[in-house]
Amino acid sequence: MTDAQALDRSDPLRSFRDRFLLPEGVIYLDGNSLGPVPRETPDRIAAVVREEWGVSLIRGWTEHGWIDLARRVGDKIGRLIGADPGGTIVADSTSINIFKCLSAALAMRPARTVILSETGNFPTDLYIAEGIARSYRSGRVVRIVDDPVAALDRNVAVLMLTHVNYRTGAMHDMASVTAAAHEAGALVLWDLSHSIGAVPLSVAADDADFAVGCGYKYVNGGPGAPAFLSVSERHWPELRFPLTGWLGHADPFAFDASYRPASGVAGAVVGTPPILSLAALEVGVDLMLDAPMLLVREKSLALTGRFLAAMQARGFRSITPADPSRRGSQVAFSHPEGYAIMQALIARGVIGDFRAPDVMRFGFAPLYLRYQDVDDAVAIVDDVMRAEAWRDPAYQQKRAVT
Ligand SMILES: *Cc1c(COP(=O)(O)O)cnc(C)c1O
Repeated sequence: MTDAQALDRSDPLRSFRDRFLLPEGVIYLDGNSLGPVPRETPDRIAAVVREEWGVSLIRGWTEHGWIDLARRVGDKIGRLIGADPGGTIVADSTSINIFKCLSAALAMRPARTVILSETGNFPTDLYIAEGIARSYRSGRVVRIVDDPVAALDRNVAVLMLTHVNYRTGAMHDMASVTAAAHEAGALVLWDLSHSIGAVPLSVAADDADFAVGCGYKYVNGGPGAPAFLSVSERHWPELRFPLTGWLGHADPFAFDASYRPASGVAGAVVGTPPILSLAALEVGVDLMLDAPMLLVREKSLALTGRFLAAMQARGFRSITPADPSRRGSQVAFSHPEGYAIMQALIARGVIGDFRAPDVMRFGFAPLYLRYQDVDDAVAIVDDVMRAEAWRDPAYQQKRAVT
């Protein structure tokens, strides 16, 4: 028995792999971009269509609790991220939730002008901040720096950071960064897109003000799954979101002539929620809640550590922190031929992805990956590099989605 086989046999999470539908012949190292299908999801969606929508029609909103689904799944996500009970809701996309939370945070710091963020943050986060700053009479500016904690001053209204960097996998210390921002009088918005389902989170204990994140990465909610947002209980009384849609009204079915916000995060809902997508997301969230997060973290570090060591031994240059406590559940390497190498790997069933300009990215989701998968992926890297398979012109052509 190989070392990897022994580790797989004694892995306390090994039974989770069977709860996913994974295609034959694929080692999936891209669950940080789009998680695979939980085995239960197809039947769950079919049941909502046939037995709920198909039978109840409009009555489904009450008979099947659709009207509360965004809140119900939000509460479960709140448990995954350690949020104040009742402080998390599912809505829209991460980009839109950044807009809503950033705007709400700015309204709480009217005299301050700066939205502070970090070089290398995910583009949509920065684009949304830029759009807010440019909008009519906002009077705000975006400042993007290498060391955001050092740049905190009395002009900073909001510090907006992604907890685990999408490219390098580097992870911030949420508690200490948040404390530094609060010390300077600023609020903090954390993007947890690459953290939820991958690393232990305790946004309430770490004193985060706002948090947002994706449903389709490590929580396996499906392509374009709705996102979430979460707000600390201490801000609920003064919380005002900028998109004032009817389902964020305190009493939507009163059909009042003017807007009155629902209290807390309920006011972040804009329009009618996507029930089929929410049903799929709930399956992924329930599955994640079954997995003890400390075991997930332990295995994640073992898998990423194993892959990092093997790749570095082969001369690949890691851009992921070597210190395990400073990284999420992904590793990345910078390589001038990174794009073509990744295409050659994908053609051989090792699915990672590429991020411009030269980054090969590999995500390790502990619920369905085995230690043997790490070793098999490394063996395929060896094949590609030894034969210089990446030189094939077919692998040089850029695709629309990398
Ligand atoms: C994946 C990701 C997003 C995606 O936002 P969408 O609106 O769902 O497209 C946003 N921010 C970060 C940090 C991400 O990793």
